Amino acid sequence: MFNLKKRHIIILSLFSLMLLATSACYTFGIGSGNEYKNILFLAFIALFFVFSIISYIVTRIPQNIKNKMLSLLMVAAFIILLDYIESAFRFNAHSSIYLIFSLITLLFGIVDGVISVLYGAALFLTKAYFSSRPYERYIFYSIVSMTSVVTIGLLVAYERKIIKRLKNKIVTLQEAPLEFNLKPGGRNDPVQYSEIISDDGLKKEKNRLMVMLNERLFNIVETIRSTIHPYTVILYLIDSDMKLRGREILSNSEWIDMDKPLSSDDPYIGWILKNKKSMLLNEIKDEIKGIPYYTRNEGIKSFMAVPALRENDIVGIICVDSLEVQAFTDEHTKLLTVISNQIIDLMDNIELQYKLRYDMYEKGAMYTFVRTLSHYIDASDIARASLSEIIRIANASAGIFATKNEHNNFDVVFTQNIDKDIVGKDLFIDTEPTHDGILENQLSVTSQVTTAQIKFLYPALYNLYVPDKTLKYTVIISLRGKTEQVGLIVLFMENTINERISIILDTLINQVSISLYNSILFDKLGKLAITDGLTNLHNHRHFQEYLEAEIKEASRYNKPLTLLMIDIDHFKILNDTYGHPQGDRVLKKLSEIIMQTIRDVDFAARYGGEEFCIVLPNTDAKGANKTAERLRKNIETLTIKTDTGKNIKFTISIGISSLPEDARGKDELILHADKSLYLSKENGRNKTTIYDTIK
Ligand code: GH3
Ligand code: MG
Ligand code: MG
Repeated sequence: MFNLKKRHIIILSLFSLMLLATSACYTFGIGSGNEYKNILFLAFIALFFVFSIISYIVTRIPQNIKNKMLSLLMVAAFIILLDYIESAFRFNAHSSIYLIFSLITLLFGIVDGVISVLYGAALFLTKAYFSSRPYERYIFYSIVSMTSVVTIGLLVAYERKIIKRLKNKIVTLQEAPLEFNLKPGGRNDPVQYSEIISDDGLKKEKNRLMVMLNERLFNIVETIRSTIHPYTVILYLIDSDMKLRGREILSNSEWIDMDKPLSSDDPYIGWILKNKKSMLLNEIKDEIKGIPYYTRNEGIKSFMAVPALRENDIVGIICVDSLEVQAFTDEHTKLLTVISNQIIDLMDNIELQYKLRYDMYEKGAMYTFVRTLSHYIDASDIARASLSEIIRIANASAGIFATKNEHNNFDVVFTQNIDKDIVGKDLFIDTEPTHDGILENQLSVTSQVTTAQIKFLYPALYNLYVPDKTLKYTVIISLRGKTEQVGLIVLFMENTINERISIILDTLINQVSISLYNSILFDKLGKLAITDGLTNLHNHRHFQEYLEAEIKEASRYNKPLTLLMIDIDHFKILNDTYGHPQGDRVLKKLSEIIMQTIRDVDFAARYGGEEFCIVLPNTDAKGANKTAERLRKNIETLTIKTDTGKNIKFTISIGISSLPEDARGKDELILHADKSLYLSKENGRNKTTIYDTIK
């Protein structure tokens, strides 16, 4: 590559030699002229060149300004030289020669030929004016030197101003706040959070951030264009396939291919990729070979490319070019380096924001989920609140929530988007992982199978519900309490659950499991307080409370209510004959038969010892008598086998009293039922007595 600096110095030296030779000739008497002014003239010449050389050496002035200065100085030097020669040798130079010299400077390619020509032309006019006053030639010399110095000063100032503006823009860019709204549009209900952290939601969120990043990148490219004024500015960024592709561009050319990825075979780019350094070329011969984005020759003379480095990896390259030679300086390289760092910061920032936002949404979803669950004690409420959230996060189409019942089976308690009424139905699923398709390392997500496999793997589920064909996958999630399984969630989905979602679900499902476990525990504790341990019927205390409440209800609505009091006949003898454990078995068996005989709305309790009570709401004595008789006969015909192979048979006696006929309140009702029972015993046992018949 031709060394421009050297060339300038050669030209400059030649000119100075010429000038010195001419002035020397004149000084030593070759030719004639105003001798007394020679010293002054030589001083002028010296001043010019001292100034130009100093300005050249003081490298703080940007290269392109120095070049402009040189061309101006040369024009000025030529003018003065010509004028001097003209006056010294009385040689009448044709005025157009000034213009020719200006053109020569242009042909030499010493930057900004236009400025030189204009300057030359201006001097020519000044010269024309002063030539009518030959004695004021030195005023002309002064004007020439002064204007060149002033113009140079103005140029330097202008360039400084441009660079300052560029720097300011960069500072503004750096300080511009990234307007990230951490809340999803002020909506912070659980629906929004869980929608966002679903795969679809995140895709949308990512796109939003990408649009924001692209806007910023475009602003940066815009700033580069408005300050450096290149022919083309293009920003290459690394793509997901690790290739550098054009991301933003502003160009005066229509012959650009920005999609072609940069390659290490490109001569310029290859050098940058290898050396990870900026490149500044100010005299390009063949742009098609070197500049990667043009599809035809545009006459590019200057090219600058600055890599954006993240920890020694090139993640982007900013390229600018120009039709002018010497268009860019080291100063521009520095500025583009700052901008490239800015781009890295911006991308890191977006990445960080994405992570932050994701984290926040995930936590938000968890928090609202946990908070919602904490409101519920009832299993069906827990099912309702959690199933819809889990379906949304997993991007499932439909789901079933089942809780474990005392028979080690599952009851469907809630469904979503299931077009069949299966709530309350049984569902038995062996959730032990026994086949392929298990998500490993997942505590809660038990198995993910294709829906087609359900028929063979989970026939009970298949019999209960068969989803639409589009729902290719079925996920069966086991809800585990502290030690035992407490429920099941079945999801029907179009796609499988990915690892990210599966990790989130795991936490949520843990929470559901805990809530469900607590709910079951709560139920159990509650039941324990009102249940008789031996027979599982309600206990005496609860019977009293219940009867009290039922009587109030019955009298308010003017409805009948009947109480049965039951006592086992000769239980003492039974105990004595077969032993107390067998007696207990009889009590249990009787309780079971009672439960089988009465309706769902009826209420059975162990009153104490071998005495039982049944409350029959909305039933009069006549109706109750039927139930009592059915029960009595059921027991009469019952045979219980002991472990030792003996047959136990027993009977019961029953007393009946009813509201409103037989009593006014609870105590009276119990008393009268007891009285009736006593009469049944009196009359030979294995009998039913209605109070109405004895009062
Ligand atoms: P009847 O009612 O026909 O007059 O004769 P009975 O033998 O049933 O008389 P009573 O009501 O006086 O006897 C109740 C017996 O029930 C006394 C007690 O040993 C027995 N018993 C009470 N509670 C239990 C229990 O929890 N388990 C067993 N095995 N026996 C009980
Ligand atoms: Mg008794
Ligand atoms: Mg008895």
